[in-house]
Amino acid sequence: MSIAETETGPPAWRLILGYVRPHRWALLAGAALSLVTGATGLMLPLVARELIDDLSHDRAITGWLVLMSGLVITNAALGALGSFVLRRTAESVVLGARRSLSSYLLRLRITAVDRSEPGDLMARITSDTTLLREVTTDSLVGLGTGGLTLVATVVMMGLVDPVLLGVTMAVIAGAGTVLGVIVPHINRASRQAQDAVGVMGASLERILGALRTVKASGAEHREERTLHEAAEESWRQSVRAAKWSAAAGNTAGLAMQIAFITVLAAGGARVATGAIDVGTLVAFLLFVFYLMSPIQQVVGAITQYQTGAAALTRIQEAMRLPAEPAAEPASLPSTGAEPASVAFEDVRFRYAEDLPYVHHGVTFDVPAQGMTAFVGPSGAGKTTVFSLIERFYDPESGTVTLDGRDLADWDLPRLRSAIGYVEQDAPVLSGSLRDNLLLGNPEADEDAVARVVKTTRLDAMVARLPAGLDTLVGHRGTRLSGGERQRVAIARALLRRPRLLLLDEATSQLDAVNEAALRDTVADVARTTTVLVVAHRLSTVTMADRIVVMDAGRVRAVGTHRELVAADPLYAELAATQFLATAG
Ligand code: ADP
Ligand code: MG
Repeated sequence: MSIAETETGPPAWRLILGYVRPHRWALLAGAALSLVTGATGLMLPLVARELIDDLSHDRAITGWLVLMSGLVITNAALGALGSFVLRRTAESVVLGARRSLSSYLLRLRITAVDRSEPGDLMARITSDTTLLREVTTDSLVGLGTGGLTLVATVVMMGLVDPVLLGVTMAVIAGAGTVLGVIVPHINRASRQAQDAVGVMGASLERILGALRTVKASGAEHREERTLHEAAEESWRQSVRAAKWSAAAGNTAGLAMQIAFITVLAAGGARVATGAIDVGTLVAFLLFVFYLMSPIQQVVGAITQYQTGAAALTRIQEAMRLPAEPAAEPASLPSTGAEPASVAFEDVRFRYAEDLPYVHHGVTFDVPAQGMTAFVGPSGAGKTTVFSLIERFYDPESGTVTLDGRDLADWDLPRLRSAIGYVEQDAPVLSGSLRDNLLLGNPEADEDAVARVVKTTRLDAMVARLPAGLDTLVGHRGTRLSGGERQRVAIARALLRRPRLLLLDEATSQLDAVNEAALRDTVADVARTTTVLVVAHRLSTVTMADRIVVMDAGRVRAVGTHRELVAADPLYAELAATQFLATAG
């Protein structure tokens, strides 16, 4: 399932109103300014009629000229103010969308992240939200003010000469029919153009995230082609949208030219028969001329709305991905609290309905305090045990409990604040060493930081670095060695002073000396905390208080090293080779 395949939601215009509602007063003010601007423009033909009238009767026209200049200047000033207010409102709508989308994406369930491309989600926050700008100002306001100006102009035209109005309307109706065919194409092309931007974001993220491997594999040219294809697809679709937009704009323009000519002809005939005078015809023609702008505005609004609606649909698709409930900011780690107990009771779990079960009824009990090791071949389901404890996923049946309480009954931030988790291949985030350590406990003091740096044997390295803890580690910690990254991850988890510490192959890349030292640290921590480790070194496993042997999604046996060597052939075999859990 991709993001686009989630079910359809409410129509785009309802969503747009939702984003606009907080800014409705600013929007109305901007629209009102635009309307007044339009109205001052509308008065010009009337003044012109009076001016021509006075001119033909040899009367002075200075007053009319002054009035016309005043109207023109007011028109320009109000127009500028109005467009600023509207642009500012539009930016606020973009801000609102970016804020709600980024908050939402941080709360996404891991299941949703498993199935989406981060690069595409990024494009939705950065690129699609930008397109909302046009929907707000040009589209909504254009539709509102253009529509009103249009109505006002039509009323005026009706007052001046209803017959010529009829002629004008017939031409406009013809153009409307053509536009009805053109407009849906704009939406489709815009949607595809934005999807291509998403594809581009996804490939960029994929390539830049693994640039060393891409280079080492000599795959630059192939990856370059992927990127270029996505860029070209976006270009193709945008050009298609531009083509239809241009057609729409020109249809409107052409219609107005035809209306102008038709009115000139029909109006000329009416002047000849004496039905109207020349001043009336000139005034009407000026109105036709003034009709041009609101009609262009309305047509522009409709085409722009199509682009914005396509972007909004993409934003809404992201906001319909499953997310965790919005919660208060996570409470700080539960410093000094009791160690936690954990139990699995007949847990059945699969990552998705179309995937095989990973846990077929897993049951085990970990009392508070002490160290429990999970061993078993790669793919046995060890990492999945930890993911379920963190509630990244929920079991399909059976229960996982912490302190005897079903995880489903725990407040999520409180649950997670009790746990320190060093995931398999735990990432180090770009920023400084200190940023990384404080990630899980921003309020830890200097002493606490110094202590974990020492217990994880990072102190020698930190002392060597020119900027110490403030040294930048690079994207995903590329400036550190694998073993250093693991120790940073352990230090980060320890600094939370968790009630439950989960270490998933957290020492796999350490040398023997560092590993032995870390083992002592973990043994120390296990005196006051519950520690669960997935480890593959016999030395770590033998010191555990209990060992859970997993195989193919089931718990085969639980016991101490001595018990298991005697009772479980798989364990005995693994132990004989010194490696109890292959990395995986
Ligand atoms: P272990 O840690 O014991 O090596 P895991 O718990 O990581 O095993 O994985 C158990 C099984 O679940 C593996 O077959 C793996 O392919 C599958 N699996 C792990 N994570 C995911 C995921 N996010 N989506 C789908 N399948 C997964
Ligand atoms: Mg694993």
